[in-house]
Amino acid sequence: MATLSTHPDCVPVVSYRFGKGATNIDKYLELQGYESARKALTLGPDGIIAEMKVSNLRGRGGAGFPTGLKWSFVPKQSDKPKYVLVNGDESEPGTCKDRLIFEQDPHAVIEGTIIAGLSVQAKMGFIYLRGEYRYLLTIMERAVADAYAKGFLGKNIFGSGLDFDIVTQTGAGAYEVGEESALMESLEGKRGIPRIRPPFPAVVGLYGGPTIINNAETIATVPHIFRLGGAEYAKIGTERNGGTRLFCLSGHIERPGVYELPMGYNLKKMIYEVGGGIPGGKKLKAVVPGGASTPALTADEIDIGMDFDQLGKAGSMLGSGGVVVLDETTCMVEFALRTMKFYAHESCGWCIPCREGTDWLKKSLTRLHEGGAVDKDIDNIRYLAENMLGRTFCPLGDAAAMPTIAFVKKWRKEFEDHLEGKGCPYHRSHEPALALV
Ligand code: SF4
Repeated sequence: MATLSTHPDCVPVVSYRFGKGATNIDKYLELQGYESARKALTLGPDGIIAEMKVSNLRGRGGAGFPTGLKWSFVPKQSDKPKYVLVNGDESEPGTCKDRLIFEQDPHAVIEGTIIAGLSVQAKMGFIYLRGEYRYLLTIMERAVADAYAKGFLGKNIFGSGLDFDIVTQTGAGAYEVGEESALMESLEGKRGIPRIRPPFPAVVGLYGGPTIINNAETIATVPHIFRLGGAEYAKIGTERNGGTRLFCLSGHIERPGVYELPMGYNLKKMIYEVGGGIPGGKKLKAVVPGGASTPALTADEIDIGMDFDQLGKAGSMLGSGGVVVLDETTCMVEFALRTMKFYAHESCGWCIPCREGTDWLKKSLTRLHEGGAVDKDIDNIRYLAENMLGRTFCPLGDAAAMPTIAFVKKWRKEFEDHLEGKGCPYHRSHEPALALV
């Protein structure tokens, strides 16, 4: 079982019950479990959404959309049933936080799902787990069964007269299903490819009904917002980025792990103080700040607060919180190639710019890395990636293009060093570069 890493700067909010045996429902109850759902019942839908807005919680899956606002888009009246869908299809390379939540505090996910359901008067929630995380299904199914046995799920939850059911489901191992509309397709038993939007899930979602869909960390945070109060939760982070987040620190780092830190925490401190710096006293070359799809930062760009706004201003993204540290021995062409191999493999193939673009980029980067490229290949890689941006049905096309553009722009000299038949200069003198996937 994975464990949380700690540092004096960590603020345990989502991880408040980690390591305390909270998979057991009685232990969860001892630790203020299900008190937030009871409180939410007294607030009613409008009160819940108001509290969520005050908290400044922004979606932890990558886009960073304000959660309370997202919930408020679900129409009050609907002919079709409403649903809550928890996206536990954690697949972004560099990210390994949601699995920790499911392992350590499954009832927080259940309680957050109940509260989300109460906010829109939904009667049913689904918890969708990544296919490769199948072992988590046992933990979640046990927790759901215990919640039913206590009367927190099913008919007349908490004696309120309201009903709410939860179903757990695993995927089949497709990264693409992490995209919300593809996830709904998959859950409905169809091929997991995205839907054309609009309409958005808040209006036409699962089985055509209005649907709240949120990342697992977002949902697991919800009970803590009601435990602490929205305003108190908001104070922990920065002005427009409430609370904490689980950062997954990996790569060339002395103390890799999942750390819960306030939103806006300085990246340089995260690497050198929380993570203990680069092993062997090596120099830092690059940092992927939020999972493989986020443009990498150079060593000169890391004195920055880790929130959605500050990273956005720096031309990158907070993404899914997967911070990958790369030292001076990393070949950035090889890293770009490994990243692209992943996206080419995971492209669902529906739209041409993504299907063909990722494959061409993979081939071009392979040729460059192996020494068979010519000058114009470097500009062609950038040109191709730039022309994928914004021209695909779902964000996977952008996810492949954005980091590639940053790699070429910021480390162009390294790309040029691979030309003239020379191939990778790093493999001539160093160990193979870090494997991302
Ligand atoms: Fe499929 Fe890629 Fe198009 Fe998304 S961008 S729909 S993954 S082909």
